[in-house]
Amino acid sequence: MKDWTFCPRCGNRTRLAGDGKETHVECPACGFTKYDNPLPTTVALVVDGEEILLLRRAHQPRKGSWDTVGGFLSGTETAEENLVREGLEEIGCELRNLKFAGSYSSAYGDTGLVTLGLAFTCELPPDAEIVLSEENSEYAWFPLADRPPLAFADGEAAATELTSRTSSA
Ligand SMILES: [Zn+2]
Repeated sequence: MKDWTFCPRCGNRTRLAGDGKETHVECPACGFTKYDNPLPTTVALVVDGEEILLLRRAHQPRKGSWDTVGGFLSGTETAEENLVREGLEEIGCELRNLKFAGSYSSAYGDTGLVTLGLAFTCELPPDAEIVLSEENSEYAWFPLADRPPLAFADGEAAATELTSRTSSA
């Protein structure tokens, strides 16, 4: 919220407000209000048995870290629609069998953006051929119980919970 120093509507200086918790900024001049809502994102836990598909990020933030398929929601898109779109864009495959696995708070690197990752387990079609976009430099399947740390807190938490559910089943 600290970046919202000036009102985007009228240009006056804003002030932090809320009941002692500074939950939003408001503009005293025109009444513009900006709440501290997280940005919804998706986390695809693409699994095959007890293995998970991970991608290595080719760009900042967290360039070089392993990450899940997924991204920021756009317009009127649902999380399920977003995951199908992101799957086609990032790995050239249509994700299927989407099952909601939980929501997880995170931050988008050091950008100051707070996100809410909507995680789904999903699978690739049997004949899937993975074709990476320029967003990622490589992909690999890892055992759920022995994978590298993930780029963002939401993916990490979602994968950790999935692992504990899978191993206790
Ligand atoms: Zn204003």
